[in-house]
Amino acid sequence: MKRFTSIKTRITIWYTALMLVLISFVLTVVGTLSYQISIDNIENDVKLQVSEVAQKVGMRHSREIFHQVDSNEEFKNVSIYFETGEYVVGQYLYDVSSIPFSMEKLRRENVGGEEYIVYDIFKPSRPGDNRGYWIRGAESVNYAKVLGNSVFFIILIVIPLILLLTALGGYYITKKAFMPVNNIIKTANEISAQSDIKQRIKINPDSKQDELHNLAITLNHMLDKIENLIKQEKQFTSDASHELRTPISVILAQGEYLLDISKDEKEKELAQTIVDKSKQVSKLISRLLLLARIDQNRQKFNREKVDLGVIIDVAVDSMKKLAAQKDILIFSNVPEGTIIDADESLLLSAITNLISNGIKYGKESGHVSVSASKVGNNTEIVIADNGVGISTEHIDKIWTRFYRVDDVRNDDYGSNGLGLSMVKSIVELHGGTITVHSVLGEGTEFRIIMKN
Ligand code: ADP
Repeated sequence: MKRFTSIKTRITIWYTALMLVLISFVLTVVGTLSYQISIDNIENDVKLQVSEVAQKVGMRHSREIFHQVDSNEEFKNVSIYFETGEYVVGQYLYDVSSIPFSMEKLRRENVGGEEYIVYDIFKPSRPGDNRGYWIRGAESVNYAKVLGNSVFFIILIVIPLILLLTALGGYYITKKAFMPVNNIIKTANEISAQSDIKQRIKINPDSKQDELHNLAITLNHMLDKIENLIKQEKQFTSDASHELRTPISVILAQGEYLLDISKDEKEKELAQTIVDKSKQVSKLISRLLLLARIDQNRQKFNREKVDLGVIIDVAVDSMKKLAAQKDILIFSNVPEGTIIDADESLLLSAITNLISNGIKYGKESGHVSVSASKVGNNTEIVIADNGVGISTEHIDKIWTRFYRVDDVRNDDYGSNGLGLSMVKSIVELHGGTITVHSVLGEGTEFRIIMKN
């Protein structure tokens, strides 16, 4: 299954991740450098303290320096020992006293698992004398690490905060920038849901003239063109059907006349074909004209209170002859006084069409039922048969103009694939809806809901 992730979210995730990498990199470099610098500082400090003390030991004010080493913050890393290693004074006593002395060698020593920076100077009592004092400076390397760790903890709090702000800020900005895309999607959805090509993408004149703004304008131009093309196509269908209507009536009339005056069988057969095919074309033209008029909002629509029972009776009566040919029974069940607001002749032709389909696609000795009932404020009309049914592969396409499930099968009835699109247009013109439910081999049920 494909997960839906909006571009906004993807951009936000992408640059937040990038920020995370970038900040982590910068902070690692900064962290490493600052650790190195603090180690250097400690080393210099230890060396300086030791050298300073060593200079003063053995001089006239020796006592004073001993006192300072013992208590001054300035010499907190220094201790003084006899040449034997015995402790004399100093604040830094712990662990480091066990490390062997080594003259003026700045080094790292490990005591009890802890690392120390150590520096020693031996100050003889008299030049060349073996006796004297060792001055030792020491500091734990951990001290630098502790400093580093506190920086690390600050980073640990700061990074998520920066990232959160970046993500929120970035998401807000991209959301605003993508606003026109939402308008485009909304309009496209409305166009496809309502089949209303007149809708246009709303463009805010104050919005920035960026690529998305231009895209919206371009799409609106494209919609103008498509709307025009559809208009022209409708006009063409309407004009062509109109132009064909008169010649086909003449052919039909002359065919019927020919049928009347024909004496031999062959002539009669030919005339009959002319009459049948002319009727077929005439029916096709009437449907095309009706559809074109509804599309162009030019269809006369005479809405009035009509008795549904009467309309259904008329439709059933007109189909009885066709039904008898296949021994199909038509039942109707409409409660008396079922009145609805509708155009009588349009509704009649829609219901007749559905009954005629029920017969055309019905089984020999089958049945078609027509029923109506009030459901709340609506009126439901159900036309059902126990015929061949429609497979799921075709069911969504049956409303498409000129769509026929099986060309050969339907040709016997002069089918043209316009019946259901006409029915749908008529129902929708009334503000109603039509749905179909069908099981292949078992039958089909059309349900019209008229809002009254
Ligand atoms: P047609 O003129 O071919 O009957 P329609 O628009 O009335 O055109 O129907 C379209 C297609 O839907 C038909 O070709 C047919 O296959 C299928 N169809 C319509 N009504 C029924 C029905 N009651 N039972 C089975 N199939 C049907």
